[in-house]
Amino acid sequence: MKEIVLGGLLLQRMDRIYREMETEYSRVAAELSFSCEGCPDNCCDSYFQHHTYVEWGYLWLGFRRLSPKEQKEILVQAKAYQSVCEDALVQGERPQVMCPLNKNGLCILYPYRLMVCRTHGVPATMTRPDGRRLSFPGCFRCQDLVEGRYQNKTEVPQMERTPLLKQLALLENDLMEGRRHLYPRIKLTIAQMLLQGPPSIPVPHCER
Ligand code: SF4
Ligand code: SF4
Repeated sequence: MKEIVLGGLLLQRMDRIYREMETEYSRVAAELSFSCEGCPDNCCDSYFQHHTYVEWGYLWLGFRRLSPKEQKEILVQAKAYQSVCEDALVQGERPQVMCPLNKNGLCILYPYRLMVCRTHGVPATMTRPDGRRLSFPGCFRCQDLVEGRYQNKTEVPQMERTPLLKQLALLENDLMEGRRHLYPRIKLTIAQMLLQGPPSIPVPHCER
């Protein structure tokens, strides 16, 4: 196995994608006068799985900057998180458990958080590679805010995720030297990304 190292130009591209995400999110939030301030909920207990090696590698850049003590504590929490998730899934329920990176309501690795964490909240749209258009209404608080304010749904400010996802997919492919299709697909929670260590891929036969 070979560790996937995210650095140089690829890292700059990842930073740029995340910055664009934040700009687009802020634009929509400002148009809606929406913010998480004063919310009684904390979305970090929502169950999400993530699909890119590039985001996994980026998360690990942040994780490695924590002290050994912090890392150890987080991994203990990640194990507990994993166990709660497995129990819920066995019973056919969607897990609801606080992310191991959340401490006192705040994200320990905020600058390294994943796309889902950066985009959740405001209404969004995206076009899938097969052309199907998807629409996300935003969190319950944002939906309350929007309710009744616009006569037509098309007037609601939306975050357009498609160009960002395309850039992420291109970056993922470049990270794997144009051979993304040869490597296993991933579907991991943040806890699994931490427990499994930094992302690595099997070395192709010809390189052995
Ligand atoms: S995204 Fe919505 S539900 Fe989540 S913390 Fe912010 S306001 Fe609350
Ligand atoms: S990575 Fe950070 S923002 Fe994302 S769910 Fe975990 S604590 Fe929340």
